[in-house]
Amino acid sequence: MANQAAIVVGGGVIGMATACALAGRGVDVTVLERYTLGHEWASSHGLSRAIRHAYGSRAIYTRMVTRSLALWDDLARETGRHLYTETGVLSLGKAEDGETLSGYEVMRDENVLVERLPSEEVRARFPQFVVTDEDVIVYTPQGGMLHASECLLALRDRLSAHGGVLREGVQVTRVEPTGAQGEQGRVTVSDGSTLTADRVIVTAGPWVHDVLPDLRLPVRATRQQIIYFDGLPAEQFGVGVFPVFLAGIGEGGFYGFPLQGPGWLKVASHVIGPTSDPNEPYPPDEREIEAVQAFMRRRLPSAADAPLAFADRCRYDMTPDEDFILDDHPAGRGVVIGSGFSGHGFKFGVLIGELLAALALDKPPAFPLDRFRLRRFQEASDAAGG
Ligand SMILES: Cc1cc2nc3c(=O)[nH]c(=O)nc-3n(C[C@H](O)[C@H](O)[C@H](O)COP(=O)(O)OP(=O)(O)OC[C@H]3O[C@@H](n4cnc5c(N)ncnc54)[C@H](O)[C@@H]3O)c2cc1C
Repeated sequence: MANQAAIVVGGGVIGMATACALAGRGVDVTVLERYTLGHEWASSHGLSRAIRHAYGSRAIYTRMVTRSLALWDDLARETGRHLYTETGVLSLGKAEDGETLSGYEVMRDENVLVERLPSEEVRARFPQFVVTDEDVIVYTPQGGMLHASECLLALRDRLSAHGGVLREGVQVTRVEPTGAQGEQGRVTVSDGSTLTADRVIVTAGPWVHDVLPDLRLPVRATRQQIIYFDGLPAEQFGVGVFPVFLAGIGEGGFYGFPLQGPGWLKVASHVIGPTSDPNEPYPPDEREIEAVQAFMRRRLPSAADAPLAFADRCRYDMTPDEDFILDDHPAGRGVVIGSGFSGHGFKFGVLIGELLAALALDKPPAFPLDRFRLRRFQEASDAAGG
């Protein structure tokens, strides 16, 4: 594939990983990023993102997590950067939530190290949590947190080692297939100039409609928030004693991480926020901060009075079924789309990069892509009589 040229639009974790995968296969790659790598409004920013095997009955994601852990490990060794801290992952659910028990069974079938813990054992091992005898509690010693900003720097290192280029401060206004059968891609930039390449890969996160306005992908940008708390003791909430956790699965859910960065505990609600224009800033949502604090009073009472350090905000790019979009543009193979990461894409970053590169280069992907194709939305609409 030497001498092929590709342009990647958007330098978040997905775009950078895709560019690395293409450059590693000898493609001449340029990433066009509107702002800077890891800027604060991109989804791929900040101290951490969770990586966990628990995915309910969706076994493909559990398998993809196992592969992703190995790929992040390769990247860490190659770049000498610390990308991942294994904290273990504790899931607190209910028998009827439709996720926790099926997730446990899938993980067991997929040979992931996993235990179901009785509540008395959780009280002894993780006394920070209030648990009841009705809770279904699952623990995986593997999984934990990816250091998000550091992961982006590692991808930048890899890209440059393979001769790829990251151009920051370049705003793309349009992407479309071009050529006789749409077999190439054309990019229009905000100064009016155009660029063409054998393949253009769109990985613009919540801004996908800015560059593919005619396609009307079923993706909406939602406002999300992460709350950091200060002043908690490392003996109770530090790495080694406090795991990444998921709680209230099936009821929206909360999740959290041990102390990180300046010594902050991170807790957030996974409730899907309101749809909003990704180009408009928004203030912290006080009601959501209160919901997180109420959750902490119920489940983590010894942390509930910790002072608020910071409310970080960014967006999910949600699809209706929360599955990703990894597909060719319907009008031609010159444009490939990676979108709709629905609040759970970071952990798969390097792997998705491999999958999008395989699509772009017409190579067999490492995982089947049927679940991620655009035609599913048409099929769902047909089935609904729409
Ligand atoms: C609050 C929150 C918590 C999350 N927690 C987790 C978690 O614990 N685990 C997990 O796996 N995932 C998590 N996610 C999801 C994960 O962060 C995202 O799925 C992932 O980062 C998506 O990356 P991306 O590259 O698609 O998008 P982004 O990181 O948003 O990157 C898109 C890039 O495209 C650029 N761009 C946009 N428009 C243009 C244009 N016109 N021209 C040029 N460049 C453009 C943007 O500037 C941006 O840098 C979370 C997300 C949020 C918001």
